[in-house]
Amino acid sequence: MELKAAANGRRPPSTYASLAPFRDYFRGGLPLLTYHKLGPRPPRVRLKGLYVGEKLFARQLAELRQAGYRSCDFGALALDVTQPQGRIGISFDDGYVNALKYGLGPLAEHGFQALQYIVSDRIGGGNEWDLPAGEAYEPLMDQAQLRDWLAAGHLIGSHTRSHARLPELSPAQAREEIAGSKKKLEDLFGVPVLHFCYPYGFWNERVRDLVIEAGYRTATTTDFGLNDGATSPYELRRITVRYASWGLRALRQRLFG
Ligand SMILES: [Zn+2]
Repeated sequence: MELKAAANGRRPPSTYASLAPFRDYFRGGLPLLTYHKLGPRPPRVRLKGLYVGEKLFARQLAELRQAGYRSCDFGALALDVTQPQGRIGISFDDGYVNALKYGLGPLAEHGFQALQYIVSDRIGGGNEWDLPAGEAYEPLMDQAQLRDWLAAGHLIGSHTRSHARLPELSPAQAREEIAGSKKKLEDLFGVPVLHFCYPYGFWNERVRDLVIEAGYRTATTTDFGLNDGATSPYELRRITVRYASWGLRALRQRLFG
């Protein structure tokens, strides 16, 4: 269904694996790509597609660069999402060690800057919030690794203190997750933390207002789409990057029967 629509040039797939089906679509606004984990996939992983291999990641950046894309200016996002054509945002959720280990090389080679959304109380820990659903444990960057990330010219944003489901919290708890994580990251690393990402994409107007109150300039959702002058900077849309095992098989089947 998705592949058919993409071939007609009307609607791209709901997740990103390569530029080709998105070439025309990306002309409609600013795309923000969402990565999670890079490199080899450990055994017993539930969401396998969220591990993008190092070679595939490098290939994706290479083709974006060859098509003339450059990193968007995250600092300007809140003021104007209608940046010049050919800009793209590369972001990572959660702050995994593997994003540092396998990401820094390809990002440097192809000249892209990336924004990593950090869970401030889990620095040096792991994705405990994923474990009840049966997901595999994956270590998160510690302070020294986050300093390496920043020293390489990349950015950090906040993803709350504990990867919280914000709409379920009291106003005081939600404020602590949103404003408290910003303060902690700024105190630890001495950089402004201007960008926020709603864990699980869960937000409501009350949560959004707390993000604005805390002084963030943007907040990203998990809603699919591009961003333009009509998009609220606190409801930015993103496109998830996935290892397209199923998509490739389906495509081959369509082409070769
Ligand atoms: Zn997350």
